[in-house]
Amino acid sequence: MRHSLTLEKIVAEASNVKSYHFLPNTVIEFKAGQFLKYFLSHPESDQRGVSRYFTISSAPQEKTIMMTTKFVPGDGSSFKQALLKLAPGDHIEAEGPSGSFTYQDHLQEVVFVAGGIGITPFRAILMDLDQQNINPPITLLYANRTSDASFKNLFAGLTKKHDRLKVDYVTGLITEDILKSYLINHPSAVFYLSGPEPMVESLKKSLENLGLPANQIKTDYFPGYEDEFTISPQLEKDEVAK
Ligand SMILES: Cc1cc2nc3c(=O)[nH]c(=O)nc-3n(C[C@H](O)[C@H](O)[C@H](O)COP(=O)(O)OP(=O)(O)OC[C@H]3O[C@@H](n4cnc5c(N)ncnc54)[C@H](O)[C@@H]3O)c2cc1C
Repeated sequence: MRHSLTLEKIVAEASNVKSYHFLPNTVIEFKAGQFLKYFLSHPESDQRGVSRYFTISSAPQEKTIMMTTKFVPGDGSSFKQALLKLAPGDHIEAEGPSGSFTYQDHLQEVVFVAGGIGITPFRAILMDLDQQNINPPITLLYANRTSDASFKNLFAGLTKKHDRLKVDYVTGLITEDILKSYLINHPSAVFYLSGPEPMVESLKKSLENLGLPANQIKTDYFPGYEDEFTISPQLEKDEVAK
């Protein structure tokens, strides 16, 4: 189904990362972790075209449909340039929702592993659980190229409210050794992997090498961000939020 959405506001989340808050013209029913396909026609579109998939980074209980994305300074697609020109009151179209990267069995322990902008489905899921006042055993392992990470304050607030939620930050690559330590501490957990496609592929391979069965791995791939974790990795765990 095609929806029309009106931009309410744009919020800066980290350097080059912004959240777009939209008010839909009709109610969009979705599960936390699902995505929409957005259409933004613009002149002289490049070969990547006028549509993109974006996870809904808000929870179903929140007022706006939120989309959070990253901008590559001086090197972005024509779609992202058009997105940067949107102002409150402007309209965009979207189809969906779709996707099965959701968390339904709240008795199941999970480890959420996010690379950079791959945090979006986890923000939606954690906010959804918070709104329902459900406190399952969740560890979020969140890697970024620098310590500048989106939603840090929000996650700090959530970890204070929910004693079984733990958020660990990594600067640089999540290595197989780091994954191994989480696997040892959470052997029955389902590992959810979300981020740039090459990163998710390599994490999945590492978990398989470490012996984690396929039914304990769930993936969400973000194509189009090939470089994000191949530059200047500092293999250092810099900060633990709780
Ligand atoms: C199910 C799903 C959910 C997703 N959810 C999100 C989400 O929540 N947030 C999010 O940000 N992304 C998400 N994505 C990825 C998103 O759809 C885009 O692929 C991504 O944002 C890259 O956007 P872009 O192509 O506009 O490139 P940009 O972000 O503008 O650029 C990314 C890289 O591609 C290069 N590039 C840009 N244009 C071109 C071109 N024409 N030719 C060659 N190289 C180019 C740039 O130099 C840069 O290195 C999701 C994808 C899927 C499939």
